[in-house]
This record gives sequence, C-alpha cells and structure tokens, in this order.
Amino acid sequence: MDLRFSDAEIAFRQEVRDFLAAELPEETRRHMIAGKSPTKRMVVDWQRRLDARGWAAPEWPVEHGGPGWTAAQKYIFREELQMWPAPSPLGFNINMVGPVVIEFGTAAQKARFLPRMKSLEDWWCQGFSEPGAGSDLAGLKCRAVRDGEHYVVNGQKTWTTLAQHADWIFLLVRTDPEAKKQEGISFLLCDMKTPGITVRPIITIEGGHEVNEVFFDDVRVPAGNLVGRENKGWDCAKFLLGNERFGQARVGASRERIRRLKTIAKNTYDQGRPLIEDPEFRRQVTEMEVELKALEMTVMRVIAGETKRAGTGKPDPATSVLKIKGTEIQQGVSELLMKAAGPYAWVDGDPDAEGANDWDVAPDWAFGLAGVYFNWRKQSIYGGSNEIQRNIMAKAFLGL
Ligand SMILES: Cc1cc2nc3c(=O)[nH]c(=O)nc-3n(C[C@H](O)[C@H](O)[C@H](O)COP(=O)(O)OP(=O)(O)OC[C@H]3O[C@@H](n4cnc5c(N)ncnc54)[C@H](O)[C@@H]3O)c2cc1C
Repeated sequence: MDLRFSDAEIAFRQEVRDFLAAELPEETRRHMIAGKSPTKRMVVDWQRRLDARGWAAPEWPVEHGGPGWTAAQKYIFREELQMWPAPSPLGFNINMVGPVVIEFGTAAQKARFLPRMKSLEDWWCQGFSEPGAGSDLAGLKCRAVRDGEHYVVNGQKTWTTLAQHADWIFLLVRTDPEAKKQEGISFLLCDMKTPGITVRPIITIEGGHEVNEVFFDDVRVPAGNLVGRENKGWDCAKFLLGNERFGQARVGASRERIRRLKTIAKNTYDQGRPLIEDPEFRRQVTEMEVELKALEMTVMRVIAGETKRAGTGKPDPATSVLKIKGTEIQQGVSELLMKAAGPYAWVDGDPDAEGANDWDVAPDWAFGLAGVYFNWRKQSIYGGSNEIQRNIMAKAFLGL
C-alpha cells in the first residue's frame, strides 16, 4: 500500500487551504488558536459557509448532500480544518445522528431531518449516558412507554455536551424492561422544546459550561420519531459509537498544538537559553511527533480499508486504537504546553478582555493553556473511556 498522497490529493489540500484563507473569519481562528472552544455563533456561521460550498457533510452519500470525496480527501479536509484551526462540522449532526438516520431512518425522516442537520438549522445533542450507565451503556434506565401515537419518556441523561445550544436530542431509551439489556432499547429523536425537558449545567474543572444534565418528565415524543425498529436501538448505538471513535484521532489538532508548542518553546528561556534547545524537552517533543506520525499511518490504514472488518459495515475495532492513541497524544501535548509555559501556565482567561492587563507579567500565549490542559482530561473518558477501548481490543484482536 502506498501511504503517500497523489498529486490530485495534494491539489485538493491546497483547494481546502484556499477556502479556509478566504472564508474563515479571523475572529474564529484567533479564538481557536487561543485554545478556546468556538462559540455557537462561530460554529453555525462556519458550517453554513461549508454547506454553501457543499462541504458540510464530508462522510454523507452524495444523494444526501455529501461531496462524494474519497477516504483520503475526507481525511485531508478534516486535518486541514484542525490544523488551521477551524471548527469541524458539528459532530453530533454530521458524524453521529446524520449517519444513523441515513442508515436506519425512513424516507420521511431523511427528508425532514438531514437538510437541517447539514445546514445547522437544527443543533443536535447526544442523549446516551445516564448516571450509572456510561461504560455500561446498555444498562440505561431512561424509560419510554408507548401511548397511542407517542412515546412518553421519563428519566435522566447526563454529560450531555452543549445541550444548552441544542434544538434536538437523539436518545437511547428503554422500551422493554423485561428483555435482555441490549434488546430492550430504542433510538428516538426528540425536540428539545417539548414540554417536560429540563437542562441543568455541569461546570467543568476549568470553569467551562460544556456539559449538562437533561431531565425528562412525561415528555411526549411522536412515534414517527423512532429510528429503526422498536427495541432495536442498540444496532443504531453501535453503529454511531464506531463513527464517534474514528473522529477522535484528531491528527490535525495535535499537529496544530505541536506547532504552537514549538513556537512557544523557541520564545521561552530556561537558564538563559530557549527551551527548544533543552535536550530533554526536545526529546519529549520528538517522541510526541513520532507517536503522531505512527497514529497518522494507522488512520490511513483504517481509511484505506486495510484493517480487520473494514468495509463490513460493522464497527472496526481498529478505531479503538485510534481513540486511545489520539487522546493520549492530545493530552501529552497539552502537558508539554503547560511545561513550556512554566510559572505562567496557571494564568487563564482572555488576553483581550477588560482588565486583562492586570496579568501583564504573563505573555499572551500563556492565556488559556491551563484551561485546555484541564479540559482535555475529558478525552480519555468520553466516546467510551480508554479502558473500555482496551477491553474491546483485547476481545477483538487477542480473542480474550
Ligand atoms: C466532557 C464529556 C462529555 C461527554 N459528552 C457526552 C454526550 O454528549 N452525550 C453522552 O451521552 N455522553 C457524554 N459523555 C459521557 C461519556 O460517554 C461517559 O462519561 C463515558 O462513557 C464513561 O462513563 P461514566 O462517566 O459513567 O464512567 P464509568 O462507566 O462509571 O467508569 C468509571 C471508570 O471506571 C472504568 N471502567 C468502567 N467499566 C470498566 C470495565 N469494564 N473495565 C475497565 N475499566 C472500567 C472507566 O474506564 C472509568 O475510568 C461525556 C463525558 C465527558 C467527560
């Protein structure tokens, strides 16, 4: 297998870069370089620009508005976005619920939901995890009872990312409490404006509002919003989780952070010389780069269909390798950024904010590094914790 990009792929990369240079608002780019999550306004604005170009849903089939790219083009596109950095198309819409509706949904559901997911007229969030049902997701208890033309939902979801922005939530609910765990679950689409839904914020360690608890109290969901068959929602969940893991390799994002790390290390002095000249620091950065190269090769092998189960439609266990290595590298780089920042690493906030000059002992680049470091501890937990990914690998590769 040839892992180099062809001339046409190199030209495509340039096309993506030209588009980013022309279209991405500078405010969004600056915000992301500072390590902050883009605001809702930034994400919506950017996804609409991508949609106008036909690039909002890279993985979708052409008949539903996908661009018809090869696997390598999809990879290049995502990598360029992450390296720029620019917001990715909203994962909940494009990589999670969209593909589920395409694979399992009815014609009416596809016509109703897919165009609005793509243009981000509807912001979706993921209602899978519950208190007591994270790693053991199939143990979920949120209950849906059929009542005429509706399901009546009662229960709680938790860690629901950006539910405060969401217009819709896709839900795993228990529709048959008597059946074996995986067999009594259904997949529902629920309008967040339905009476009976309460969203409560969970504030994360760095002070951000990214995750929420979502409570359902006699929430009536039209039966037409069931995706796939009743009690067969676990098939949708497995399909979705495979896609979710693939997206967590984030090679471009790590490359952007390493680039930033090197710039900082060139401008930070340790005992009179730039940190980048310190042999131990150089070794650590190089080790990260080597790991990242190996990860990139593995991603390429997965997208080239070289790994076990690729092309079978079943979740490829190799995506667990991508999830583990991708998140370890991102966390490792965020640690090195903290080391490079040294005593300034704790400084947080916005260098442009009013009163920020109070911190003028700290260089601008140090702002936000601690926040990112703490926030990124989440990466080895969400999308199925890294321990769970190791269990999947032990079973799939080693037959344990
Ligand atoms: C920032 C963030 C955002 C999230 N966003 C969403 C979202 O939008 N929607 C959503 O539905 N969920 C979301 N999640 C939830 C996420 O999927 C769960 O946190 C994750 O699956 C782990 O579940 P848990 O938190 O219940 O931990 P537990 O399952 O209780 O696990 C606790 C610890 O025990 C370990 N462990 C558990 N079982 C095993 C085992 N069998 N073998 C070895 N080790 C084990 C785990 O690895 C972990 O370290 C998010 C989580 C975070 C942190």
